[in-house]
Formats: sequence, C-alpha cells, structure tokens
Amino acid sequence: MDPALEKLVILQDRDACILSLKKEIDRLPSERKLRESKFQKLEADLQVARSRSKEIEVEKKTLQVEAESRRSQVLRYRTQQMQTRKNEEYAALSHEISVAEKAIASLEDREIALMEEAEALEPKISAAMGAYQAGKRQIEGELQALDSREQNIRDQIAGLEKEREGLVAGIEKNYLALYERIFRSKGGSAIVAVQGNICSGCNMKMPDQTAAKVAGSAYLVHCPNCGRILLPQD
Ligand SMILES: [Zn+2]
Repeated sequence: MDPALEKLVILQDRDACILSLKKEIDRLPSERKLRESKFQKLEADLQVARSRSKEIEVEKKTLQVEAESRRSQVLRYRTQQMQTRKNEEYAALSHEISVAEKAIASLEDREIALMEEAEALEPKISAAMGAYQAGKRQIEGELQALDSREQNIRDQIAGLEKEREGLVAGIEKNYLALYERIFRSKGGSAIVAVQGNICSGCNMKMPDQTAAKVAGSAYLVHCPNCGRILLPQD
C-alpha cells in the first residue's frame, strides 16, 4: 500500500474517533435537560400534594379569626344584657347571642372537618416527599455521572488531537488537504474499502479498470462516483 495512504488511514481512524466523541458531547445537553425536567416534575408533584394542605391552613386561620370576633361579640352582648333594664332589649340581646353561638359552633365544626382532611393528606404528602427526595438523589447522581463522562470524553479528545498533530506532521500537505476536504464533505469517511469492485462508501460498482488501479497503484485512486479515496482489498 502507498505509505501516504497508510498514514491517512490511521489519521482517519483517529478523526473518526474524535468525531464520534464530539457527537457524544453534543448529546449531553439534552441528556441533562431530560434529568432537569424529571426533577421539575417531582417538584410539581410535591407542590400539588402540599397545596391543598396550605389551603386548609389558610382557611383554618380565617375561621379562627371569625370565631374569635364572634366570641367577643357574645361577651359584649352579655355585658350589655347586664347593663340593661329593658326586657325587650334583654330578649333581643339573647337572640343575638344565640345567633352568634350557632355561628361559632358551625365555624368550629368546619375547623374540625378541615383538621381531619389535613390529617388524611399527611401520608400523601410524605409519600410525595419521599419520591421527591429519592428522585432528587438519583438525578443528582446521574447529573454528576454526566459531568464526569463529559470530562472523560474531553480528555480522550485532547489525547487524540495531540496524537493527530504528530500524524499530520508526517503527511504531505496536498494529501492532507485532499483527505480533510473529503472527510468533511462525506461526513467522516474519506477513505473507504473496495469490496468486489464495489465502493463501500457509496455502494456503487466501479469499472474493472478503476478496481485494477486501486489494487496495483502507488498513488491515490478516487471512486468515480462519490470521489472518496479507495483502499485496496487485503
Ligand atoms: Zn464511492
């Protein structure tokens, strides 16, 4: 085989590795995003579980304030009752007191119902909290693994690029430029094997003449169809 071609084949192998490692890095942001949206879902589930319980707390406070104001109303009415000498006014105040006491009783009933509802919610909230914490730990672990995978890939790329510099130094400039142009335009395959007169880059059969040239020549032969550099069969 042409020694220049031999060097280009090694270069292509390293370039293909670099290309596939770079593609892997390009996939990392979407891998991270996937984890982040999983985490957001867990947070949202937890919030849903907690939101009813918060509503209950707010309503309970409102009920307590109202009950308190009704209780002071009753106290005021009772004081007024002690001060009055008019039977009619006394009776009217008694009526007001009984209205207020009924209202207080119904506020207290509502408060008890809310407390029961809050109690029933507790297991659901702690289940959501457990799922959230376990999910958070897992996702954080996965994100860390992605970070170290990225570091690992970047190290590999740096190593390959260093090796590439050494290889490139030994390749004639015209050959290198030609190879690089085809490598870029053909998505990472510049040099391809010929198998049974078929170019494995474009899968087209080539004339016997071209195949013969590939087998025996000391210079680079291109596929007449796709332009890739052809590698003789072993
Ligand atoms: Zn071809």
